[in-house]
Amino acid sequence: CGIVGYIGDQQAAPILLAGLAKLEYRGYDSAGISVRNETNGEIEVVKAKGRLKTLIEKTDEGHSVYGSCGIGHTRWATHGEPSEANAHPHCSEGKNVVLVHNGIIENFQELKEKLVKRGYTFYSETDTEVAVKLIDYYYKKTASPVSAIATAMLHIRGSYAFGVLFKDYPDKLFAARKDSPLIIGKTAGASLIASDVPAILDQTRNVYYIDNMEIAELTRDEIHFFNTDEEEIEKEMVEIKWDA
Ligand code: GLU
Repeated sequence: CGIVGYIGDQQAAPILLAGLAKLEYRGYDSAGISVRNETNGEIEVVKAKGRLKTLIEKTDEGHSVYGSCGIGHTRWATHGEPSEANAHPHCSEGKNVVLVHNGIIENFQELKEKLVKRGYTFYSETDTEVAVKLIDYYYKKTASPVSAIATAMLHIRGSYAFGVLFKDYPDKLFAARKDSPLIIGKTAGASLIASDVPAILDQTRNVYYIDNMEIAELTRDEIHFFNTDEEEIEKEMVEIKWDA
């Protein structure tokens, strides 16, 4: 039910966990984080059923997952029981694409059947796993993360805020949304995503509002926005004046 993402000059995991803690009010039944390990290039995934505290302990307060780019999630189960397997982040085979999702993919059954025909297998009961595998499917065709996400968005019915990592793009973090909240934050040395402002207020007050059917491509220094025609969109940064 909450999303946080970070790419910058600090260690990602402690920032992700602190951000998720600020979103606890939204309610959740499990939590997880993914961080790109800079020593071996692999995207690590750690999940835990239950309280965020369990995930914090499992990752030694984030110190056991080393890297400066990652995504985190607290889950409010809609498809599939609360369990470690159903917890986010969800992955394509080989963790080529790793994703967190808030919302509901309404046509997940139909999309799943198509993906099964194309040789995909599924390890969870979630609608979310269908989204990550659909993005993986289009990524394999286009080799472009923005194009893969945009095409998947045009095939998905329902609501979503996505945070996405691609193994092939170690210096980038992607986000997209439709009918689920998501904001993008910017500091001098980092770019962030979150479902709500309090999750990133410790880091920054400078945010962009991403609209329905838009995609954001974040690097440490820059943020670019696209529509589903893959055209770049200009956005104004907004300063948050209030306190959480
Ligand atoms: N529908 C997804 C699931 O059940 C996401 C739920 C959420 O927004 O936390 O896993």
